[in-house]
Amino acid sequence: MAARVDLDGKPIKPLTICMIGAGGFIGSHLCEKLMAETPHKVLGLDVYSDKIKHLLEPAGAHPWSDRIQFHRLNIKNDSRLEGLIKMSDLTINLAAICTPADYNTRPLDTIYSNFIDALPVVKYCSENNKRLIHFSTCEVYGKTIGSFLPKDSPLRKEPEYFVLKEDESPCIFGPIEKQRWSYACAKQLIERLIYAEGAENGMEFTIVRPFNWIGPRMDFIPGIDGPSEGVPRVLACFSNNLLRHEPLKLVDGGVSQRTFVYIKDAIEAVMLMIENPARANGHIFNVGNPNNEVTVRQLAEMMTDVYSKVSGEPSLEEPTVDVSSQEFYGAGYDDSDKRIPDMTIIHKQLGWDPKTSLWDLLESTLTYQHRTYAEAMKQAIAKPAAN
Ligand code: NAD
Ligand code: UDP
Repeated sequence: MAARVDLDGKPIKPLTICMIGAGGFIGSHLCEKLMAETPHKVLGLDVYSDKIKHLLEPAGAHPWSDRIQFHRLNIKNDSRLEGLIKMSDLTINLAAICTPADYNTRPLDTIYSNFIDALPVVKYCSENNKRLIHFSTCEVYGKTIGSFLPKDSPLRKEPEYFVLKEDESPCIFGPIEKQRWSYACAKQLIERLIYAEGAENGMEFTIVRPFNWIGPRMDFIPGIDGPSEGVPRVLACFSNNLLRHEPLKLVDGGVSQRTFVYIKDAIEAVMLMIENPARANGHIFNVGNPNNEVTVRQLAEMMTDVYSKVSGEPSLEEPTVDVSSQEFYGAGYDDSDKRIPDMTIIHKQLGWDPKTSLWDLLESTLTYQHRTYAEAMKQAIAKPAAN
């Protein structure tokens, strides 16, 4: 492998990375990239390894086999954690409960997972002078300032009322009984703690705020590779509806807006953070694609069109159906209205820009969903009738 250089032309030394949550959606893509394109070593920690099985097995069979280890452990209660952090140059913490259906129905688990369970990770990094890249969320911004203006106010169109900036925007959450915000609040507090470790104890850190990263291997398809009653994030919910030939469910009219970024673009940003510590340390980075904004209704329509193209199956005459948030998520749900990331800081520090359009990223992702799940879905649907 050719010697790698950083953005300032300096050679990059091979690193040992302790990756917590390596078996998840983002972790699996990051492991893949690190194995295929770098000399870095990964100590992967997770309770599941299904999504990185192709990198781990057969044992010893891949060119990278001696650079990746998997440690099946729960960071809540495992004494191996500190040792693994100590053995590494860098820790990346991805572990979290991060599906909105859990925030209002399992608020205790959500708060423990996103705040309490992350505390030892921060402590061990600080005490052992190890660098930490911690995954937070765009949800720490909460609602936009513009959402509080009258519906017809012309100010709603002014970027200062909705563009989310790491060093300027406030964090605006709903009342406590709207337990949706348990996740955002826990993430905000761990961000503040990490920032304080940097300010008071000199810990080297980078905080990542992902804005709806999507792509293959995200979450699960209910009843196929996850619980039938489970509610994953929107990409998997809509994929599930498309695979089952049922209408896509629009929560509260599908009027919320999101910007979606392709996982492979976003992973490039994380690689730049890993390999350019002098430019990334002490920063909080938005990572998203402001050019890919749609309402959830528009996303449903586009996914319906793309899926019909990649599967060759005609779409339903009524491709969507409205459902209330109370019915879909239960009491205590609330929503972020709009999420446009400001890209100034990441562009200036790391020269990163997202590339892939929403249509293109949906085309490759839904091709993967169809290839991976269509046959299993056919069998699952046929089974009850056969019995
Ligand atoms: P994911 O659920 O696919 O991955 C999280 C992984 O952490 C899972 O494999 C899970 O098993 C593991 N994990 C959770 N608790 C653990 C524990 N106690 N011990 C060991 N492993 C544990 O989610 P993801 O989309 O890959 O997200 C990764 C991080 O990025 C999370 O912190 C999430 O809050 C943040 N994030 C992601 C997005 C996105 O667009 N995907 C958006 C905002 C924030
Ligand atoms: N949503 C929807 N139908 C679904 C799943 C989600 O309308 O089947 C909406 C949800 O209410 C939210 C948006 O899609 O407005 C994005 O939801 P996701 O779960 O991906 O997470 P979020 O972006 O809110 O963190």
